Amino acid sequence: MRQKIEQLSSYLADQIAAGEVVERPASVVKELLENALDSGATQIDIEIEEGGTKSIRVADNGTGIPQDELPLAVSRHATSKLKSLEDLAAVSTLGFRGEALASISSVSRFQIRSRSDGDSLAWNLSSEGEGRWSELQPGAGRVGTEVQVRDLFFNTPARKKFLRAARTEFSHIDQLVKRVMLSRSDVAFKFIHNQKIVRQVHRVDSDEGALQRLSALMGSDFARQSLRIEFENSDIRLHGWAGLPTFNRSQADMQYLFVNGRIVRDRLLSYAVKQAYADVLYHGRHPAYVLFVEIPFDLVDVNVHPAKYEVRFANGSWVYDFLRRSVRDAVSRPLAAPSGSGAQ
Ligand code: ADP
Ligand code: MG
Repeated sequence: MRQKIEQLSSYLADQIAAGEVVERPASVVKELLENALDSGATQIDIEIEEGGTKSIRVADNGTGIPQDELPLAVSRHATSKLKSLEDLAAVSTLGFRGEALASISSVSRFQIRSRSDGDSLAWNLSSEGEGRWSELQPGAGRVGTEVQVRDLFFNTPARKKFLRAARTEFSHIDQLVKRVMLSRSDVAFKFIHNQKIVRQVHRVDSDEGALQRLSALMGSDFARQSLRIEFENSDIRLHGWAGLPTFNRSQADMQYLFVNGRIVRDRLLSYAVKQAYADVLYHGRHPAYVLFVEIPFDLVDVNVHPAKYEVRFANGSWVYDFLRRSVRDAVSRPLAAPSGSGAQ
């Protein structure tokens, strides 16, 4: 029996879209961290309870959102990061789709507090996940933004069923937070789970500081047994740390790749690094690395999937070759001095 065609309410549309962006608590943390970083924050605090299933709070000291724009920030297809299709070709911010806050708020109890430079007060906006929003409420607070997401999926039982034990959700968030901490050594982060500080890193302003931060995040063994990498070839740059062949793993569990500061899962790139180590590692062993690829924004398409973990290169084989060759040169150099030895 055919039913009449009707327009979805924007609330229902948001909930459906949330299926693509908000898979689990870690996806909420990812979106909120990206927003905080896009706002130029230098200090970001992440506080979660019960693996993020009960509560997720991200506070930053970025630009904040002006009072009159706050209602827009939480509505769909509203973004300050993109004005035209041309902008999309060279997008340099982590977000640009204007749907994260709308999606997240449609599947949680949601509260945002923000104060911009131009406002003398902070403003609060909240929703209990029914598509209805509170009036703007004034409050106190410093410049920046704080978002709190409670009871994720409380109103979408089908999705709530897919949540795992708090411990599992916590470890997804912890991995994500670690990646973000690795990617932005110019930002201080504090990560709290059930009232305990799990990870805390300070801003880095020296090589020594960078090594300390690497050591805190990747372990001191890795920091001691890895090579500082720095290669540049016209438009493309590779930097970071590549584990010495002697520091190898039975699993591919210490491999971190970033493209223009973005966390990516890219088989082409991981394969390039794997190939780079092929001659110096035993079969079945895996290298450890933290590598950053920087290429012009217009040569990489980040709009492949809503969660933005995938990227597409205008010239994949060029990136592949550069990565494989650079890493291979570094790790197969005999008597290479590890970065922690002081003999750089
Ligand atoms: P997007 O990041 O794709 O633009 P979001 O839904 O994540 O979409 O956010 C919508 C808008 O709200 C952003 O474009 C930005 O202007 C504003 N915003 C969100 N979070 C923050 C934040 N932490 N600091 C400053 N502005 C923010
Ligand atoms: Mg965003």
